[in-house]
Amino acid sequence: IIGFLIAVTVVSGIITLILSIVEVQNVLLPGSIKYGIVFDAGSSHTSLYIYQWPADKENDTGIVSQVHTCAVKGPGISSYFDNPSQAGESLKTCLNEAITIIPSKKQKETPVLLGATAGMRLLREQNNTQANQVFDEISKTIKQYPLDFRGARILSGNEEGSLGWVTVNYLLESFVKYSFTEEWIHPNPDQTLGAMDLGGASTQITFYPSGAIEDIDTKMFFRLYGYNYTVYTHSYLCYGQDQALKMLLANLTKDNNFSSPINHPCYPRGFSQTISLKDIYNSPCVSIPSSYIPTQNITVNGTGTPAECKSAINNLFNFSACVTRKMCTFNGIYQPPLHGQFYAFSAFYYTFSFFNLTSGQSLSIVNETIWNFCTKEWTKLQVEFPQENTIRLGDYCLSGLYILTLLLDGYKFTDQTWGNIYFRKKAGNADIGWTLGYMLNLTNMIPSETPVTVKGHNS
Ligand code: AMP
Repeated sequence: IIGFLIAVTVVSGIITLILSIVEVQNVLLPGSIKYGIVFDAGSSHTSLYIYQWPADKENDTGIVSQVHTCAVKGPGISSYFDNPSQAGESLKTCLNEAITIIPSKKQKETPVLLGATAGMRLLREQNNTQANQVFDEISKTIKQYPLDFRGARILSGNEEGSLGWVTVNYLLESFVKYSFTEEWIHPNPDQTLGAMDLGGASTQITFYPSGAIEDIDTKMFFRLYGYNYTVYTHSYLCYGQDQALKMLLANLTKDNNFSSPINHPCYPRGFSQTISLKDIYNSPCVSIPSSYIPTQNITVNGTGTPAECKSAINNLFNFSACVTRKMCTFNGIYQPPLHGQFYAFSAFYYTFSFFNLTSGQSLSIVNETIWNFCTKEWTKLQVEFPQENTIRLGDYCLSGLYILTLLLDGYKFTDQTWGNIYFRKKAGNADIGWTLGYMLNLTNMIPSETPVTVKGHNS
C-alpha cells in the first residue's frame, strides 16, 4: 500500500508539473522587455520617443509605455532642404541618448521608425529632390547606430490623423480590455474617442461617426482585436498653426500693397517685429504675388484688436464653399456629423494649457479668457508671463482665436458639444500623437483578431 501511495504521489506530482508547464507556456522569461523608437519629424521640430513593453504581452492592449522622449535641437527636418547633411547630424544627440537607455543586448532588435509629416509634405510639393536628399542623409545617420532601422518616410495626412486616433484609443483601452472576470471585453466603438491634432503645418480630425461616411477619401479602415472600425479622417494641409499665421500675414501685407509698416490685429498693442517678405512667401500655402521683392523687410505692429483678428482669421477659410452643401466644414471638405468625445492634442493642448483652459471650462469662459488676453498690452504681458518665450507669447492671441474658429466655425462644435472636447497632452503615461499608433501598426502589435488565450500566469 505504501509503495502504491508513493507511486500515486510521484505520478500526481509529475502531472501537476506538466500542467503548470502547459499553463505558463505563453510566458516568456520574467523581465524580458522589448523596445521601439519612433522619430516624429514634424514641421517645426523633431522628437524621439522610446517605448517599451513586456515581450510576453506583446499583443495585449494598453501595455506599451513611453520610457523616454528627446527633443532634437534645432528646427524641423524640412528646414534643412539646403543643407541636408545637417538634418542627419541634428538627430545624433537623441540617438546617442537612446543607446544609453536601451540595453546593448536589446539594441539590434529594437525597431527605429522615422515618420515625417506636413513640413516634409510641403517640401516634397516644392522640391521633391531636396525632400529625398533630406531622407537620404537621415537614413545614413540612423544606419550608423546598432539598431534595427526600418526606414524614414512621409506619412499621408490620413495616416497621421488615423494613427493619432489609434494611439488615443489604444492607451485608453477602448478597443479591447481584459476584465478582472478574466474575459476580453469589447467596448462599443461609439465609445472610442475622436482625435484632433494641430501641428505647425497641418491639422487633423478623426472620429468614429454614427452613420455612413459619404466621401471615400476620408475613410480609413482598421481591423483591431477582431473588430472592424471605419473611421472618418481628414488632414488640412496648410491649416497647421505656423502656416495659418503665414497665410494671414500674407493677406495683411497684400492688403497693404507691401508697404511697411502694417498693422496686425492679432498681435498685442506695443508688439513690433520686422520680417522679410521671403519668410512669408517661401511656402506653398501662400500664393506668390506678381509684385513682390523677396528681400524687402516689413515691420509688423500689433494693434491688439480681437474682433478684427477674428475676421482676418475667418478670411483664411472658404466657408462659402460649404453654403450649398450639407456635412461640410470649409473649402468644400466633407465631414459627417461630429460624434462622441474628442481628445485635442499638440498645439491645441499647448495653447489651451497656456491659457489654463484644459479643465473643461465652458465656451463662454474660453472666449472671455482669450479675448481678454488679446487686448492686453505687450509690456504688461511680458511682466505677467516672464517665463514665456517671446515669440510664443506674441502668438497666443492668434493661436487661441484660430483654434476657436477652426473648432466652432470649421468643424462645427457648438455650445452644447464644446464639453465633448478634452484638451490633453498625455493618456496614461504616454504622449498623444501618431507615433505610438505608427509603431503598433508597423510592428504588428495590434492583432487583427481577439486574443484567445490568457497570457500570463498568476500562481
Ligand atoms: P509640429 O508638431 O512641429 O508640427 O508643431 C506643432 C505646433 O505647436 C507648432 O506650431 C509649434 O510652434 C507649436 N508648439 C510646439 N511646442 C509648443 C509649446 N511648448 N508651447 C506652445 N506651442 C508649441
